[in-house]
Amino acid sequence: MDSLLKEELVLDCAIIGAGLAGLVAAQYLVDRGLKVTVLEGRDRVGGRIENRVLSDGGYVELGGQWIGPGYDSLTEIVDSLGLEMIGLPTKGNLVVRLRGEALEVPTTDEGPALTPFEVSDLGQGLLRLRRLAERLRDDPAWRKSNGVWLGQDLRRWVATNLRTHGAQRRFAEVYAAAFGPMPKGVTLLEGLHQVNSGPDLESMLASNGDLHQKRVAGGMATVTDALAARLGDAVRLGAEVVKVGYDEKSATVTLADGETIRARQLISTLPPRLAMRLEHEPPLPLWRKEAAEKVAPGNVIKAFLIYDRPFWRDKGFSGQSSADEGAVRVTFDTTADNSNRGHLMGFFEGADAASLSRRSVTLRERSFIDSVVRTFGETAAKPVAYIERDWSNEKFTGGCHGAHFAPGVWTTNGPILAEAEGVLHWAGAEYSTRFNGYLEGAVRSGREVAAAVARALA
Ligand SMILES: Cc1cc2nc3c(=O)[nH]c(=O)nc-3n(C[C@H](O)[C@H](O)[C@H](O)COP(=O)(O)OP(=O)(O)OC[C@H]3O[C@@H](n4cnc5c(N)ncnc54)[C@H](O)[C@@H]3O)c2cc1C
Repeated sequence: MDSLLKEELVLDCAIIGAGLAGLVAAQYLVDRGLKVTVLEGRDRVGGRIENRVLSDGGYVELGGQWIGPGYDSLTEIVDSLGLEMIGLPTKGNLVVRLRGEALEVPTTDEGPALTPFEVSDLGQGLLRLRRLAERLRDDPAWRKSNGVWLGQDLRRWVATNLRTHGAQRRFAEVYAAAFGPMPKGVTLLEGLHQVNSGPDLESMLASNGDLHQKRVAGGMATVTDALAARLGDAVRLGAEVVKVGYDEKSATVTLADGETIRARQLISTLPPRLAMRLEHEPPLPLWRKEAAEKVAPGNVIKAFLIYDRPFWRDKGFSGQSSADEGAVRVTFDTTADNSNRGHLMGFFEGADAASLSRRSVTLRERSFIDSVVRTFGETAAKPVAYIERDWSNEKFTGGCHGAHFAPGVWTTNGPILAEAEGVLHWAGAEYSTRFNGYLEGAVRSGREVAAAVARALA
């Protein structure tokens, strides 16, 4: 950096996005005496972390909320902010709805924890396997025409169809418990025969499906709010970046209202595909655009039914459920620590979310209620409120969960996507080598990239 330019540029670093990664990166740089601005397009901080406060003072968390095992960096931040962590509201039995029948399954504390995403991934994978097994049994013509495909290694099928490591690991455990260890070279066809003749895999998963997750009292948004409060005026809300100019010495970002901001270094915390929507000067390399295209954001609508009380607890249920059909296939009790009401959270996912996203809120509410009535009974028919956040319709997010479910995609494209282009650095959950797509990944990436920027500025 030549001395003339250094004098002219008062800002050491501009950061695009006041989500967890952007705020953590900003704090790191400010702590080292550097001058930083965080440009946030929304009128709030937090990005994919958001609280909705309810009329009774309770709250629901519309985005990321669970802290899982190994979230050391995030835990350190929560502790340093003096915030408290809490567990899931209650212990209790899981309900699994299979082929129209709701089964109560005791949960245990044993076994490694699965995150809600892994539970959902595993549930979908087991369902896919069972549907294939039924087709094999009922449709000889299909079996004949798919002979080669059915001859593939069962392990390969699992690796392709279960997208999280946790779900793959638990699948192997459940399979081993049912049929003995999965032998090397066993084919999908043999596996499907066993599924048709053996015990019900979904019920076996459920008996070990207890979650060991924590939350922040008051919601994860208290973390991003507290970080933003420390940064004060360095965080600018309503500052949508539309253009990024960068070279080896400095960067210029242009906001939607035409204002330009120059800085010696720049960190973009936009997920890969979202980042491609901005104009870049010079244009980003083609390989980056192609790699970003492959990191597709998922379709997830996170929804809540609020009841006047957590009725499921009276029956000894934990509120956690999984089903093989219906618009919402997994539910969790996410009742706020300060509420007497009952909050049941569920996800609309994948194709269901994509098609329901185009329909009315009333229809989605009705679909969610229908699903939980079939799982928990008629008491679930009359919630006092329905709340949802469709992340795929959010201009400043454009979908979510993509990277949660695609570790393979990360292995191929992630490391290069995280490489800096001159002074333009990339931070965020989707650029992290560990806990990719998760809160912990956002914190780690934010810190690591900020450290690289601090080194470049030294
Ligand atoms: C429904 C849901 C549930 C989840 N649950 C969990 C969970 O339980 N546990 C877990 O570990 N993870 C969970 N996650 C993932 C977790 O929330 C994210 O990994 C994390 O919050 C990402 O942080 P980030 O800073 O990398 O990205 P973001 O939060 O997306 O931050 C990017 C920021 O950039 C801003 N921005 C975008 N475009 C522009 C622009 N043009 N100009 C200026 N600003 C812009 C955005 O508004 C946003 O604030 C969940 C995510 C969702 C959506």
